[in-house]
Formats: sequence, C-alpha cells, structure tokens
Amino acid sequence: MRLFLRLLFRNRLAGFGAVVLGAIVLLALLTPILPLQPPNATDTANRFLRPLSAGHPLGTDHLGRDLLSRLLWGTRLSLAVGFAAALVAAVLGAAVGIVAGYAGGRTDNVTMRGIDMLMAFPYILLALAIVAALGPGLMNALIAVAVVNIPFFARNIRGVTVSLAHREFVDAARLSGLGHGRILLTEVLPNVVPVIVIAMSTTVGWMILETAGLSFLGLGSQPPRADLGSMLGEARGAMISAPHTSLVPGAMILLIVMSINLLGDGVRDALDPRLRSGALARPMAATAVDRDPPPPAQGEGLLRIDGLQTEFRMGARVGRAVGGVDLSLAPGECVGLIGESGSGKSVTALSVMGLVASPPGVITAGAVRLDGEDLLGASYGRLRALRGNRVAYIFQDPLSTLHPLYTVGEQLAEAIRVHHPVSRAEAHARAVKLLDDVRIPNAAERAGAYPHELSGGMRQRVGIAMALANDPDVIIADEPTTALDVTVQAQVLKLLHDLRRSRGLAILFITHDFGVVAQLCDRVAVMYAGRIVEEGPTEAVLNAPAHPYTARLIDCVPELGGGRRRLEAIPGLPPAVDDLPPGCAFAPRCAKAQAECRDGDIALAGRDGRRVRCLYPEPAARAAQ
Ligand code: ADP
Ligand code: MG
Repeated sequence: MRLFLRLLFRNRLAGFGAVVLGAIVLLALLTPILPLQPPNATDTANRFLRPLSAGHPLGTDHLGRDLLSRLLWGTRLSLAVGFAAALVAAVLGAAVGIVAGYAGGRTDNVTMRGIDMLMAFPYILLALAIVAALGPGLMNALIAVAVVNIPFFARNIRGVTVSLAHREFVDAARLSGLGHGRILLTEVLPNVVPVIVIAMSTTVGWMILETAGLSFLGLGSQPPRADLGSMLGEARGAMISAPHTSLVPGAMILLIVMSINLLGDGVRDALDPRLRSGALARPMAATAVDRDPPPPAQGEGLLRIDGLQTEFRMGARVGRAVGGVDLSLAPGECVGLIGESGSGKSVTALSVMGLVASPPGVITAGAVRLDGEDLLGASYGRLRALRGNRVAYIFQDPLSTLHPLYTVGEQLAEAIRVHHPVSRAEAHARAVKLLDDVRIPNAAERAGAYPHELSGGMRQRVGIAMALANDPDVIIADEPTTALDVTVQAQVLKLLHDLRRSRGLAILFITHDFGVVAQLCDRVAVMYAGRIVEEGPTEAVLNAPAHPYTARLIDCVPELGGGRRRLEAIPGLPPAVDDLPPGCAFAPRCAKAQAECRDGDIALAGRDGRRVRCLYPEPAARAAQ
C-alpha cells in the first residue's frame, strides 16, 4: 500500500488530482454539518445576486436560492450517483465478463452477443430510452448510466479472464479438485481485480458526466433537489444575463472530472506491475550513459570491454549489476562468460549494444570498443547501424524473440532488409539460404512456417540464422542452448562451432554450464556478483581453477563415467546487487576466506591472459603457474 501511494504521488499530476478530488469529497461529506443556508429555500426578492454578495458567497440563482449551498449539496448528490453507477456497472459487468470468459463456449457466445447488442446503440440514446421507459428521476438515471456502462466492463474483464482461464495455475487448481465457484473466487478474481479498479478509475468521471447530462435534460434529479447537471440545466436560460449561475456548477463538474481522470491515470500506472521497477516512463531507445571520460583501451581486440559498470537505479536503491568488467574478443575467437544465474552476464552482454532498459539501467563507467570505436558514446543512429549488422545477439528463448504472427522467412528477410537495400525476392532467397546454412531441412518450405510450428531446436536455429543474417563480426550468444535438451544442444553447439570456423565469427558465449564452455570456447571468464573473478584459456581454467569460486563451480558439474563422487553444492546465495559486501564478494561463501578478503578492492592479477581476483588462489593453480 505504501509502495502504491509512493508510486502514485511520484506522478505529479495524479497527486494533484488526488488532492483536488480529496478536497471535493471531503467538502461533500461535510456538507450536512457546514453552516449553510437551506439549499431549496427560495427568496424571489434576491434573484441573480452576484457572487460575493452579503450572505451569499457565490450569489443566488433565478429563484434566489443560495448557490454555495446548492453547489455543495449538488456535488454530494452527483458524486454519490456517479460512484454508485460506476460500482453497479463494475460489479455487474465484471460478473458477466468473468463468467463468460471462464465458461467459454456457448455461454460466452450468448452473453457476449447480448452485450454486443447493448453496445450497438449509441449510449446516450440508450440511456435516454431507458429513462424514458422507467420515467424521469435520479434513481432511474443511475440505473440507465450503470446499464449503458456494463458492456465496457464486461468486454474488458472477459478479455482478461479468457487469457487467465487456461493458465497453469488455474489448471492446477482444477486438478486439485476445486469447484468452478471456488476457482473463480480464489484464482481468477484476485487477478482481475486490478483491471476492474483501473477500468473504474478511468470511467467514474464519464459516469458523473453522463448522470449530469441526463439531469441537464431534466431526466435525472427532479426540482427542487439540485445536482450539478440540473443546476446547469436551470441556469441555461440566464446564461448571458447571469453567467455565474452556470459557471459555478460548470467549474465544479470540470474540477471533479479532471481530477478523477488524472487520478485514474495515476492509479492505472501505479497498479501496472511492469511500470513498478522503473520510473513511470517508457524505456529509452538506448541505455543511458552517465560516465566520466572512458578509460584508454587496454590492448587489442575486435571487441573490447574496459571497466564496464552498469547499475539499476530504482528510486533510492541502486543495484550494481556489473561492477567493472574487462573482456576482449579477438577476430574468430570464442570466449565463454560463465557464472551463476544473477551474476550479471546478461546485463554485461546487453550493455555492449546499449540494450539494457533505461530507466532503470545506467552505464556509469567504462568503454565498449568495436574496432577501436567507442560504442557507449555513439549516437543512437550509429548504434542502430551496428546492431544486428556487425554485432548480433542470440537469446535463450527464441519463442519470445520471434514474432508470433509472421513466418520465420518473413522475419529473416526483414532482418536483412533493415541493413541492406535489397528487393523482397532477394531477401527471401537469402533467408532460405540462411535457414539452409543452419541446417534446417527443407529450408524453402520451412521459411513459410510460423514460430509456433517449429520445435525448440528449430527455433533456436532460426534465432542463429537471424543473428547471421547480416554477416556480423561478433555474435553474442546469451545462454542459447539452456532451453534445449542435450542432443539438440550438441547439434546447436556443433553448428555454432562450424559457423565460427567457416565465417571467422567471434563469439561471446554466455552460459552457466562448464561442459558447454569446454566444447566450444577458447577462453573463459568466470563472473561472480558483477565482476570477473577468473580468466584464462579454457583448458587451463578447467584443469587448474585458481579462484575458489571456479573450483566450487566445477565441482558442481556431474561427470559421466567418473564413478560415484560427492556433488558439491556451493553453500549460501550470491549477494544481492544492491548490497554488495566490501572486498571479495565471494568471501561470505568461501571456506578459505581470511580477514583481509573482506575489506578493500582485490585486483584481477596474473599474466599471459591467466588472471584471478583472489588473495589465496587454489594450490593446484599455483603449482601449474
Ligand atoms: P545473469 O547472469 O543470470 O544473466 P543478469 O545479468 O540478468 O544475470 O542480472 C544481473 C543482476 O541485475 C541481477 O541481480 C538482476 O536482479 C539485476 N537486474 C537485471 N535486470 C534488471 C532490471 N531491469 N531492473 C533491475 N534489476 C535488474
Ligand atoms: Mg541471463
């Protein structure tokens, strides 16, 4: 709740709306005890008094009634009717929507066609028809406004429910033997409540306006009782001669509707979990960079990362996901980046091309150089020209990176045409060739397939083909085989290996699996809590790990045919990125940690590309050096 309020008030306009609406509601609630004149007492001698007259701060209307008193009583009535109508519409509409969406089939069809029929009439006409049938009166106006808004809620809620009704947690509830009623109440309803609240907060303003509209036409509140609409209606005749009689209720309607809408927008944003972690803003096209002048390049390399630091700034919390990473990639080289989940591998990879979402991500130090050109300082246009063209990515889950509504051939062709002005036919021909290159059988035919028609291994091949589309120099593969079974994984790794040989690709291969690193990579860098703790040629690191963390990681890997041995799990958990310990981040989990491990920065030291960030490296590695 506190988080909700904080988010809400971070949006200035919503805060303003909340304050104004709060004041109005408070006034309306206090109206009966305020020292006001009776709202319906006429005094024809004092008709059309101007505002600020003695005894009548807002003046009087055509019957000499006190406008301030009528305004407050009218506001009270309008708010009550508007909120009541919204509540009725939301409850009935949501009930219809949930049942229709959950039941599906014929129930859904019949109900929704009924709702469609309601929607087929312009709603003011429909409201007028309902009031005409029921007779004028505030209660009937309330019913009319509620009824015409039911379809809006029913349609919204049905849509959400349909997508929920067959989710795994609902299936699980069904399997555990819960009845439909219980499932609706305990599984589905809590998930749609935020949607209901959002829909309500954005429509209450409308409903107040609609009720006021009916009253304005004389179909709502009946004289002498005032609501805002009927006050406007009565003032219509004197619009020119005594404008204040219309301006006073008009201004109040404006204030109410405006503050409700501002507040409604804020509530919608604050309830949307996707907007929670970041500010209430859309991510920028490239990661924000806020750094001192970049450090000089520390050597050669096609792709060099020097001292890269990437943070996530979430309000007062700062998570340093990447804390000073140095890494280089020579042409044709394959470097493995290995580490536990959450160690900052993906953020490092995404920082290279400015793909970390910003906000909350900010690159705070370092440089990324491609052929000597600093990418972090590059313009967005330059980054776009390089993305996918010279540096391409392969992601873990190809189903979520492929567009579900286009065939894979079309998507490949699009990737080509972004960077090369070729004709559609030629792009298609190249796409088929690419699919063939990644060993998809029957490539010409498969190009017409949609992502969901392919198996996981096939989709990952399409992902690789997509990365190859523009003949990049560097491919960054972020756990591309983690979602695949071992046989398919072996095929994909072999494919990457062959492609690397035939095309001279440099690959940065991110994984948490030493087996994969051993098969594919020339060098490996081990990452822990946002920093590289050990680096070296694959064989050297695997045979004689120097950092205790690497040693423990390797001990976690089961070995086939290696006989029975104890599998070691590493005790404890990696530190949270917003609360990193000083000194070695691994010290709290390390059996060998000494006092000096826990304070001061420990450098990545060593020679000949074999480096380790540890004061007490493993003896096996020391002997090998
Ligand atoms: P992995 O090594 O598993 O790829 P990541 O690089 O994805 O790990 O994440 C590193 C750290 O950064 C994690 O602790 C994660 O919680 C944090 N992080 C990643 N993305 C975001 C984000 N958009 N907002 C906040 N924190 C994030
Ligand atoms: Mg990752």
